[in-house]
Amino acid sequence: MDSSAKSRDSHTAMATYIHSHTARTALKAAGILAAFGLFAFLAQGVFGRVPVQIDGREYLVGVGDSVAEIIAEQPIAAHPGDLLSATDRRVIVAGGGEQVEVRVNGTEARLDERVRPGDTLELIPGVDKVEPTAEETRAIPVPTTIVGKGAVLTMAAPGSAGIERVVVGAVSGDVVASETVLPATPMVLRRVNGGGKKVVALTFDDGPWPTQTAKILDILKTERVPATFFTVGLRVKREPKLAKRIVDEGHAIGNHTYHHIDLTGATPEVLKRELDGESDMVRWMTGATPKWFRPPMGKIDGPAYKAIKAAGLRPVLWTVDPQDWRKGAEAGAIAKSVIAAAKPGSVILLHDGGGDRAQTIKALPWIIHELKKKGYEFVLLDDLPSAPKSSW
Ligand SMILES: [Zn+2]
Repeated sequence: MDSSAKSRDSHTAMATYIHSHTARTALKAAGILAAFGLFAFLAQGVFGRVPVQIDGREYLVGVGDSVAEIIAEQPIAAHPGDLLSATDRRVIVAGGGEQVEVRVNGTEARLDERVRPGDTLELIPGVDKVEPTAEETRAIPVPTTIVGKGAVLTMAAPGSAGIERVVVGAVSGDVVASETVLPATPMVLRRVNGGGKKVVALTFDDGPWPTQTAKILDILKTERVPATFFTVGLRVKREPKLAKRIVDEGHAIGNHTYHHIDLTGATPEVLKRELDGESDMVRWMTGATPKWFRPPMGKIDGPAYKAIKAAGLRPVLWTVDPQDWRKGAEAGAIAKSVIAAAKPGSVILLHDGGGDRAQTIKALPWIIHELKKKGYEFVLLDDLPSAPKSSW
């Protein structure tokens, strides 16, 4: 029963009473009833809870509660709207849209407004809101292009950053629209080879490795052939004696990072840590300073190139790759692949670490004998015919 129905019933009851009794008795009775009614109303008002209408249903709420308190306490279905992204309209802040609007007796109410008994509240759910957008000018990073087929990396053009104007969602950061103001030009890294002289350079990556590096050093000693070992800092720390032996026997140690990581996309801090970490470890353990750098997996980009140069290193890839690290690579196939591909100025990629290199070790004397027979001399990277100097 709602409160207006209740008051109608009591009026009807009182009218019937007055008609069936004398006026005096009636007035007296009415006075008693009125007093009792007032008392009941006050008692309810002071000690109990009072009825209000919320969206057509009756709720008992605390006396003097504010609109905000009533919404918080009652299981009311009206919810605020959500904040949506400017791109795909997904919800980015639940409840971050328009808030629930409250009307008390048909008039929009403030949240701190007190509600009186019998008031009628109407709750209007909040609608979803789309986040505002903002315009920004951003730099387009310099892309990297690698050209040529030689081993030594040089920079042919530094490239330049571009500029783009983007419209982004102010809350989500989503790109709503973008426009290129100035296109970026790529950094061009050129792989160069000094041809001419019949020389090749042997390189061994991913060591030093127990037993295997020693076996390779034994073969190189017997054959009187120098090589460059691109070592990993972590391995140098574990195998300092092998690292020292590489240097002591006239070979070169190159930098192949501290943890053998992919440098593309690495932060400047990571690049510095990986490059310096390996060079420092080699210096501490052997007294030698790496001059050449080989990026793990051959992966390099503009920022990595700059970090390598800033660290005083020369980046080098390879021109002959028999893929001796592949599972099932067999000594005969490794040797034949190298012998067939070798040209004046070739840089040959082999591995002394990173796994079982028994087939590489078996192939090595064969490679050396065959290339010697063809008139090749083995040199360190420093002694390759000088690569054209880049302007950067
Ligand atoms: Zn490697």
